[in-house]
Amino acid sequence: MAKKLTLKDVELKGKRVLVRVDFNVPLDKTTGEVTDDTRIVAAIPTIEYITEKGGKAILVSHLGRPKGSKDPKYTLKNVAFRLEKLIGKPVKFVGDCIGPEVEKAVSDMKDGEILLLENVRFYPEEEKNNPEFAAKLAAFADIHVNDAFGTAHRGHASNAGVAAHLVSVAGFLMEKEVEMLSMAIENPEHPYVVILGGAKVSDKIGVITNLLEKADRILIGGAMMFTFLKALGRNVGDSLVEDDKLELAREILDKASIKKVDFVLPVDAVTAREIAPGVEKKVVMIDDGIPAGWKGLDIGPKTVELFESKLADAKTVVWNGPLGVFEIDDFAKGTETIAKALAALKNAVTIIGGGDSAAAINKFGLAGEVSHVSTGGGASLEMLEGREMPGIESLANTTGKKNED
Ligand code: ADP
Ligand code: MG
Repeated sequence: MAKKLTLKDVELKGKRVLVRVDFNVPLDKTTGEVTDDTRIVAAIPTIEYITEKGGKAILVSHLGRPKGSKDPKYTLKNVAFRLEKLIGKPVKFVGDCIGPEVEKAVSDMKDGEILLLENVRFYPEEEKNNPEFAAKLAAFADIHVNDAFGTAHRGHASNAGVAAHLVSVAGFLMEKEVEMLSMAIENPEHPYVVILGGAKVSDKIGVITNLLEKADRILIGGAMMFTFLKALGRNVGDSLVEDDKLELAREILDKASIKKVDFVLPVDAVTAREIAPGVEKKVVMIDDGIPAGWKGLDIGPKTVELFESKLADAKTVVWNGPLGVFEIDDFAKGTETIAKALAALKNAVTIIGGGDSAAAINKFGLAGEVSHVSTGGGASLEMLEGREMPGIESLANTTGKKNED
């Protein structure tokens, strides 16, 4: 990936800066209050830098899936209030993202002020990357800063489209995400260990296939382990299995052995009859098989030890997908212990990608102990798959040329 221009490369004083942020935060269904402000907090360094340099920060984001209509359920108004509290400065809000009301609000702005526009997905043109809509968004700005890593895998008007009209540079969050994740896919230090878990093999095929080319070891946990184990002829009881992916699982195992990747499957599992807190649990050795009526819901203690030994000398670790049903404490132990093992690796680059994986690391209070927790669920997965990222491609290259790789 070509080197991209960032905030630090451009003059901001007196400039109208259109900042694409990712304020797609969860809201309380009854009060509309922001229930998790992680993404707002993550955008603050960029916003502060712009205002400190005397730029006018015009923030644009999507929230939820309003399906291209002005659904008040998805207004960014409450996000403006929360940002104001977090940043300790007034944040003006305008009830549209294009048109005369916005033009007026922007022309009233003084240097260093902050304005948040209404949900850009109130217009269907946003997700269609409609060129006229992109031109309207770009019309009231001098420069574009893209800090929305969470939508970098999409080519929409407010991230990629506006780059036809304005120089688009990376914000600090985007810069860090791209730097960390491209290191993991382009030039990781070895031993390079990848940990994959989560619900389905089918969600992670792209990631497995791409990382099989780079990793030294791949550790498998989560529900997807049972598809691999069943493909190897093990009894997995009532565990979650994708029966239509058994052949694919065999192909992946073959490929790993050809590539000499150490593909590590669990040796034991914590099982229960149902997914609920406080139910009877049994640790079962995989060689003995999981009895009918029981399902594997976490990796077992022997597997935790095995994984710890595979991590001990790692220089790069990428982790995507919880190793068990971490939402329930009874089945969170494997995920938590491995998260702690990662936190203890001080000489390694440790990267967490995926929405639920990030939630897990936050739940255990270990987000500050790893090198990077990606804020983009789908975007981090697509990046780990090695896919083209329209919202990164559209950023201006340091060479001054666009779309050069
Ligand atoms: P991410 O969002 O980090 O990419 P996924 O969405 O792939 O992760 O998977 C997360 C989900 O996988 C969690 O809700 C977790 O409860 C579930 N999960 C993990 N292990 C199991 C298991 N053994 N059985 C059923 N569900 C599991
Ligand atoms: Mg998920």
